[in-house]
Amino acid sequence: MSGTLKHMVTIDYEGELRTHIGFTVGSYATICGMDGNDAFIGQQTTIETPAGAKLDCPQCYAMWAEARKWKVIDFDIPTKTKG
Ligand SMILES: [Zn+2]
Repeated sequence: MSGTLKHMVTIDYEGELRTHIGFTVGSYATICGMDGNDAFIGQQTTIETPAGAKLDCPQCYAMWAEARKWKVIDFDIPTKTKG
């Protein structure tokens, strides 16, 4: 995933639409752990993100608020990218 690519995912969870920060690593559709179209769960459906949508998931917001405190210099992992 590009460091600058923004990836939104909109999920219909039992009739409630929320737009999340997408997650492209691992098996979750969003950083807050939504599965999207996992057949074993069944109550979540990923839909096309409406034009002009903004992120409105409180859990994604809380993760973003925590993560943005950190700088790339705080990490010591071989796959880190400049950011
Ligand atoms: Zn979320």
